[in-house]
Amino acid sequence: MEAYHLPVFAAGAFAFGAVIASFLNVCIWRIPRGESVVSPPSHCPKCGKRIRWWQNIPIISWLALRGRCAGCGERISARYIAIETLGGVLFLAAFVQAAWPWFLGEWPPFAMTPISLAQLPIWFLAYAGLILGAFVDLDHYWIPDRVTIGGMVLGVPLNLIAAWTMRTPLHNMKFVAVWYAAGLVLGFGGLWLLGFVFSKIFKKEAMGFGDVKLLGAVGAFFGPVAVVFTLVAAAIAGSVAGIAMIAAGRTKMGNFTPIPFGPFLALGAAVWMLWGEVFVAWYMMNLAM
Ligand SMILES: [Zn+2]
Repeated sequence: MEAYHLPVFAAGAFAFGAVIASFLNVCIWRIPRGESVVSPPSHCPKCGKRIRWWQNIPIISWLALRGRCAGCGERISARYIAIETLGGVLFLAAFVQAAWPWFLGEWPPFAMTPISLAQLPIWFLAYAGLILGAFVDLDHYWIPDRVTIGGMVLGVPLNLIAAWTMRTPLHNMKFVAVWYAAGLVLGFGGLWLLGFVFSKIFKKEAMGFGDVKLLGAVGAFFGPVAVVFTLVAAAIAGSVAGIAMIAAGRTKMGNFTPIPFGPFLALGAAVWMLWGEVFVAWYMMNLAM
């Protein structure tokens, strides 16, 4: 591998992310409706016309068809191309985080956290889960169990596999297991406790159980520090969005229009994956006593 191979792999990572996100678009529509995500093949929800493979190329097809069905001209939401682009950009970013130190021996650009090549599949899988969970939650106020419980179950073993492929010594493997299990317990237990206390004080359900499981999954994937970071970032982003909605007249103070919290948790987790450890290091250097 030479440094000049990097753009080819980078383009591949973007394309891979866009293809995965294209499939996630199908999942976001079908999973809440209890439909299979593999059959029948993609079709226009209005005219039922089968979408051919050349009409199903991420990003490009949407642009070529100008966001309309080739059969009936029905508008196809811009969210499809937005999610495909998001998937491409996030996978590209993860690739850069892993490949930059590997190929160039330098820190990744934009102050992103360096990750090992063994962690790259974990980053890809997490982004796919976060996109799926966030957009289903936006539409239906509900996060699929295959994202949340799936993440809680897979997080610790995946981190152990990544550590093992990095030839981590056995006593360090035990630390890896304890660290990510602690993340799972802190994420799940911590948010459950917060929700429980809130519901006792305000006599109102504050948090969906889906959010509790999602933060548990974040902990199992990224550890206890990521749990704290994600929750704080999500709370800040949620407050900003809430204030913006009040300012825009979309909702009134005290008149609880429910805003799903899952998308903000997903956003917080994504920010952690990109910059979290660099931020923590900077914080320890500058602000912690
Ligand atoms: Zn159509």
